[in-house]
Amino acid sequence: MIIERLAPEYEILDDSFRTYLLSNVKLKKLATGFDWAEGPVWIGDSGFLLFSDIPNNKVYRWNDELGLSTFLSPSNFANGHYRDLQGRLISCEHGSRSLTRMEHDGTITTLADRYMGKRLNSPNDVVVKLDGTIWFTDPYYGIISNYEGYKAEPELPGGVYRYDPMDGSLECVSTVLDCPNGLAFSLDEDFLYVSETGKRHDPDVQKGLYKFKVFLNQRVSKSYDYLAIDTGVSDGFRLDSDGNIWTSAGDGVHCISPEFKLLGKIYIPEVVSNVCFGGRAKQTLYITATSSIYSIALNREGVQFP
Ligand code: MG
Repeated sequence: MIIERLAPEYEILDDSFRTYLLSNVKLKKLATGFDWAEGPVWIGDSGFLLFSDIPNNKVYRWNDELGLSTFLSPSNFANGHYRDLQGRLISCEHGSRSLTRMEHDGTITTLADRYMGKRLNSPNDVVVKLDGTIWFTDPYYGIISNYEGYKAEPELPGGVYRYDPMDGSLECVSTVLDCPNGLAFSLDEDFLYVSETGKRHDPDVQKGLYKFKVFLNQRVSKSYDYLAIDTGVSDGFRLDSDGNIWTSAGDGVHCISPEFKLLGKIYIPEVVSNVCFGGRAKQTLYITATSSIYSIALNREGVQFP
């Protein structure tokens, strides 16, 4: 079920980027009509994509044969998703201000909603480490108004958190960024990439990608490498099997090397929020972009749970 096939537009800034592209592919528009699509995750063993339409309080399911259907309504204003090592769906919920897990029988377990007795702001994006720990960002976008959650005063600064499902502990690993948003580990998990998307109307915030060193699998450095992204915000990103970062960036999807070199761009007709890899060979990039979902086949495999 494809709405439209568009000729893809690329910008090649490093020759290596050419090898990541395929000729004769189209940028496919898969679904449209959303208010703000975000939080895509590929459910490979069932062959479908899940994503959030946050303002409409829904999570949708899409696949090639059946097209679009509602997966959760209401969704507690869910935003980012990932899967844990057992394949269970992990969700960041603005509405409940919590990190949740959908068990195999469909019931929802709250994993974390408070830190040191204070309510989380609005968990935004999440990733699962190979040791099973769940790392997520907690900016305040979901409580800034009633549009993507329920308006409230923040009780905590923006933070990056680590939840350990073995003992149920929650640790704040970083408060360096005002509004941490997307996150992902480097392939060797020695580094954590986190994007800063900034407080609204704050001209001084350094929006872009940050790279922190990970210590002992549970702490991150205070110092960091930084890459400015001038064309928009890096809301969400995922890695390919070479460790490159495929991130939203205002004018489309940017491909950035592990050393923070911009390799190339795929222009997308709408502002992109997030991406994930999926499809049979994990070589399709699924793109949530404002009101629509797009996909494009690549000559590069993504790092992605089955
Ligand atoms: Mg986000």
